[in-house]
Amino acid sequence: ADDPRLRHISDSIRSIPNWPKEGILFQDITTTLLDPVAFGHCVDILYERYKDQKVDVVAGFEARGLIFGAPLALRLKCAFVPLRKPKKLPGETIGEEYTLEYGSDRIEMHVGHVKEGNRVVLVDDLIATGGTMVAGIKLMKKVKADIVEAACILELPLLKGKDKLVEHQVGLYTMVE
Ligand code: AMP
Repeated sequence: ADDPRLRHISDSIRSIPNWPKEGILFQDITTTLLDPVAFGHCVDILYERYKDQKVDVVAGFEARGLIFGAPLALRLKCAFVPLRKPKKLPGETIGEEYTLEYGSDRIEMHVGHVKEGNRVVLVDDLIATGGTMVAGIKLMKKVKADIVEAACILELPLLKGKDKLVEHQVGLYTMVE
């Protein structure tokens, strides 16, 4: 609970007011990426949490979930599956529509890359309303995967994304608020 690494991670994130729109306080993790100690802590903490959970797949959301998800999958020695915006993946895809804090979109993944019964950890940098994460959950359920947990570096608790995940019987792990 009092892990000093969490403070280091929190201090590494930069807040940018009114971006990309008026009224949004953007949490910018590119400053975390400048600090290999902070970035390493993010991956280490996720690795420690999931190393004994028999994870088959880490699924990371475009764009910033890819940055944290890929090194986690390498550490866990499991598969990494990117969840991409439309028309990015070259193979046959399966997708899910969603709405987010500033807009609406769709995520897609390659058909067959997450298999029935696979144990999946969903990773993004931040959960706001939970719309993105719920789309990932629905996508995993479509292919009958087993969701271990949803994990983000940051949570905006006022937006109650966690409650939305609870409705889908999926737990949320976050490091900082
Ligand atoms: P949501 O679907 O509302 O939970 O929004 C989460 C997604 O939008 C994540 O992929 C975040 O990277 C991005 N996002 C939403 N709000 C913010 C914010 N205030 N700062 C940084 N990223 C955000």
